[in-house]
Amino acid sequence: MNTIFDYLIIGAGLFGASFAQKIREHGKTCLVIDKRIHIGGNTYCRNEEGINIHEYGAHIFHTDKEDIWQYVNRFIQFNHFINSPLANYKGQLYNLPFNMNTFNKLWGVNTPEEAKGILEKQRKAYQHITEPKNLEEQALKLCGEDIYRTFIKEYTEKQWGCSTTELPAFIIRRLPFRFTYDNNYFDDPYQGIPIGGYNLLIANLLKGVEVKLSTNYFDNREFFDSLAKKIVFTGCIDEFFNYEFGHLDYRSLKFEHEYLKINNFQGNAVINYNEASVPFTRIIEHKHFEFGQQPHTIITKEYPQSYQIGGEPYYPINNEKNMKTIKQYKEKSIYYSNVLFGGRLAQYAYLDMDDTIEAALYLAKKELNS
Ligand code: FAD
Ligand code: UDP
Repeated sequence: MNTIFDYLIIGAGLFGASFAQKIREHGKTCLVIDKRIHIGGNTYCRNEEGINIHEYGAHIFHTDKEDIWQYVNRFIQFNHFINSPLANYKGQLYNLPFNMNTFNKLWGVNTPEEAKGILEKQRKAYQHITEPKNLEEQALKLCGEDIYRTFIKEYTEKQWGCSTTELPAFIIRRLPFRFTYDNNYFDDPYQGIPIGGYNLLIANLLKGVEVKLSTNYFDNREFFDSLAKKIVFTGCIDEFFNYEFGHLDYRSLKFEHEYLKINNFQGNAVINYNEASVPFTRIIEHKHFEFGQQPHTIITKEYPQSYQIGGEPYYPINNEKNMKTIKQYKEKSIYYSNVLFGGRLAQYAYLDMDDTIEAALYLAKKELNS
């Protein structure tokens, strides 16, 4: 293989696949390589007896970006799945996100006015906090004592493996809050699961693109560099620079799958387990993402883990140390003018799928206009 491609794309995840699609549409050539045995990156699903198992964590597509919704719909149709997770705390089930159904179960209130009254009273105790210094302060200021103690504190400490007083406030700003009986987790106008699964979406994006799987860029860097005029790198940025400024930390996950000879285990795709004494954070029942009617079911328990090199890096840890390190890598990357860094691992950022596609298309357009 000695063809000179316009681009060598390292990573067949959503970023690499969207970038490849866009530049190919405009007549550029590319080769995509991935060290895994499959395309799709973390959106990959393994099909077992008709059920798509989200191998790297449950993925629900949602967006408020009209152009990105139009773009993905060129490649696949979406079903009408709406994410309405539940929280199990000490055997009681509560609706998420925090809404009138949650307040009704928690406090026995029926009207928004009653719920607001209780919430305001509980929040009042924390209004002296003007600039929350950590997640605990942010959560108490936003939600008051009951919601914090029932849904947030123990879950978050399990998820991140440390006290809520050691975590940055912004993590909790992701939790939506509303005073209607609406269990839709996301506020976005567009939502669903690709019909036929995420693998089909990625395969359609990569249609006509040369892809080499089980191929690690770092196994033969010089050779791969010689194959293309430019490189798009979507792997870990610290690894790219040989950990020159140190390792970036991640939170990892372990997934335990169970095949059950019953047709419905929990009646919902996602149930969070919010108390500390249950070691996993949630149980996913995959068939409900696609309204599966199989006589059997497959569930996955999600256990947060510390990350070791060689494991799976899932969530970036945005503390001071890592922010300083990523800044150094980003500054260095500017001098690599023929390498374009993109995607969640090269950016060291939590990007939802719509953000990932948006960033890939932005980069592709910039390249096409240069
Ligand atoms: P990835 O999917 O990680 O792809 C990168 C690819 O690069 C991988 O396939 C990897 O094998 C390859 N690679 C890395 N290094 C090398 C190398 N040296 N050589 C060759 N190949 C290499 N977003 C949502 O919108 N909705 C959700 O519900 C949602 N749920 C999520 C749940 C979890 C647990 C996590 C962690 C993320 C979730 N996301 C969700 C975010 C979503 O996963 C990302 O937006 C998306 O996967 C990012 O795509 P990517 O291509 O940047 O990265
Ligand atoms: N969270 C929580 N209780 C819950 C769900 C989430 O306290 O029942 C917190 C937790 O700190 C988590 C953050 O909110 O890290 C974001 O959770 P979300 O489920 O939105 O994101 P995901 O973990 O799926 O990326």
